Amino acid sequence: MPELPEVETTVRGLAQFLEGAQIERVQLNRPDLRRPFPPDLVQIMTGATVESLSRRAKYGLLHTDRGQSMVFHLGMSGRWRIDPDEPDKHDHLVIDTAAHRFALCDPRRFGSVDLVASDALDAWPQFAALGPEPLSDALTVGHLKSALAGRKQAIKLCLLDQAIVAGLGNIYVCEALWRARIHPRKQGGKVTKPQLARLIPQIQDVLTESIRDGGSSLRDYAQPDGELGYFATRFDVYDRVGEPCRRGDGGTIRRIPQGGRSTFYCPVCQR
Ligand SMILES: [Zn+2]
Repeated sequence: MPELPEVETTVRGLAQFLEGAQIERVQLNRPDLRRPFPPDLVQIMTGATVESLSRRAKYGLLHTDRGQSMVFHLGMSGRWRIDPDEPDKHDHLVIDTAAHRFALCDPRRFGSVDLVASDALDAWPQFAALGPEPLSDALTVGHLKSALAGRKQAIKLCLLDQAIVAGLGNIYVCEALWRARIHPRKQGGKVTKPQLARLIPQIQDVLTESIRDGGSSLRDYAQPDGELGYFATRFDVYDRVGEPCRRGDGGTIRRIPQGGRSTFYCPVCQR
């Protein structure tokens, strides 16, 4: 599943080709993904110029000169294919500029595409409920302390709550908690200020490092048939059950279920 770094990398990759470009043709190959495509998508986007791209949580945004932004979510399996050699039966939305073709390929169709007025993005229901971006200055100890106050839920689950921090997924929460040496089952309300002060830079570092890993593979996307959306990165705890903790503290990485998903942690260094 694409997480925040993959979405950020996708947005940066698309921006190389789309920023400032005029969209000449928009083709829908089916009526819907997770929900129907907007009825006026083809009409609004055809002939529009993409002024800029950005990301909010795990959504990518194409801001057009028509006061409308196209907002996409990659769902479980979505990716953008740039200048594909061959069409794919899962290319559900295809956008052409004079120079390039962009195909949104989503075999499982858990993704989405919406049109939102650019000056009303903050009020769009999917965005209005979101907490601060993890890579922004708005993610502070003060914000987390008040958002977590009184929460009995495990810190792991609190950090997956998009209203507390936007865009964090399972892998990066596991990694950040290991780096900050915080036990994933600790109650959110009981995580101390010094722990939160350790946690925030670890969240930011693990995301930034992963975006950099993705960025280093970005040049591949300039090749024909480039694909945006997925890359391999090296994790310290995620998917390492039974292996030794990389801190060399004698701990063995454990896996526990939390909220229906696997958490990986070291019982020695995470308290
Ligand atoms: Zn350890």
